[in-house]
Amino acid sequence: MKLYNIKDRNEQVNFIQATKQGLGSKQGLFFPVDLPEFNSDKINNILKMNFIDRSYEILSAYIGNEIPVNTLTNCIKNAFSFPVSIKYIDNNIYCMELFHGPTLAFKDFGGRFLAQILSHFIDDEQITILTATSGDTGAAISHAFHGIKNIRVVILYPKNKITLLQEKLFCTIGGNIETLAIKGDFDTCQLLVKMAFNDISLKKSLSLNSANSINISRLLAQICYYFEAVAHLPKKIRDNLVISVPSGNFGNLTAGFLAKSLGLPVKRFIAATNINDTVPRFLENNIWKPKETISTISNAMDVSKPNNWPRIEELFYRKSWQLKDLAYGSVSDETTKLSINALSKLGYISEPHATIAWHLLRSNLKNSEHGIFLGTAHPAKFQEIIEEITGKKIVLPSQLIKYIKLPILSHEIKPKFNALREFLLQ
Ligand SMILES: *Cc1c(COP(=O)(O)O)cnc(C)c1O
Repeated sequence: MKLYNIKDRNEQVNFIQATKQGLGSKQGLFFPVDLPEFNSDKINNILKMNFIDRSYEILSAYIGNEIPVNTLTNCIKNAFSFPVSIKYIDNNIYCMELFHGPTLAFKDFGGRFLAQILSHFIDDEQITILTATSGDTGAAISHAFHGIKNIRVVILYPKNKITLLQEKLFCTIGGNIETLAIKGDFDTCQLLVKMAFNDISLKKSLSLNSANSINISRLLAQICYYFEAVAHLPKKIRDNLVISVPSGNFGNLTAGFLAKSLGLPVKRFIAATNINDTVPRFLENNIWKPKETISTISNAMDVSKPNNWPRIEELFYRKSWQLKDLAYGSVSDETTKLSINALSKLGYISEPHATIAWHLLRSNLKNSEHGIFLGTAHPAKFQEIIEEITGKKIVLPSQLIKYIKLPILSHEIKPKFNALREFLLQ
């Protein structure tokens, strides 16, 4: 597989290089040179397969023969070791639950696949994974990389801006996992990580790698569950499908469009955000104008400079698609809470992120259409607020209970690059 840097098209790397490197020069994102397409027979065929076999077809179409068949198959099997579940809600709407993995969020798919690929291909090098999290990436990456030889993981997160349960899930692990609480917001954390990658000598001496959703391995892995969703639905509704994606850094939506680019029948996507609405405003008036990030109850979407957006623009350009065909909307905390209650009355307990996608899907869907919204996290991760809103008790899954009693091992550093640099080099 060949990829080019969106900011410097002459810079080309293969899949493993892109995975190891994360970003190209000038912080440019890597993007596939070839965009494979399945014809409708192939699509029908793979929709009949099981999740693992189908995922092999999808990933090998992109990655090509760069990874031996057996290695790729094993990576997929080890990474996707938990189910995707589709629940019917109401009024032609389904939830695709992506939160049944070890850290209860969809980020387990990308994080675990990335860890598999890296652990196969780093040989004897010592590498440092440096990443910023708005809540769920940290957990997915920590668990996926815990105990993997020659990999040090350093995770930055905004102090007091993630839930205690989210924090417990990854700041209690120790070993090769180090966590840094930053006095700032997610964009600050992301900026510090970018600065580290720009520091050539630091990057070299530590072999820095970002496990953010900018990493191509994570993105490719996420294509697979879009196919799984369609495979679960009755055939006759496949051609009238609208998918609503709760979005922060826009990796998930990028993967959805890469699935469509491969040939998955999706009539329309909805870019669903909270009040951090840089993309909805851009789609409305064609002006890119990030504002200060605002903390919300859908904290994993508290992003005002979404890193993956340039990939969506690149893909639309390459496919000659129109951005006006991308539906969008942003939802306030107040409306999110009302919608969590409305869903609860329908007998479905949902957390804030997925609820935003549901809310916008419900208002966007036409009579003849069917809709899927992505369940990106388990409601138990947001236990306190959901119990408060719905008055219903949430049962914590076993994955969480284990970590609640453990002490948080995070270090605190100032939101300054020097402080981060010092920590990394100590
Ligand atoms: C990360 C995350 C999102 C946003 O996904 P992006 O790929 O960054 O757009 C949405 N919901 C939850 C629960 C998340 O953890």
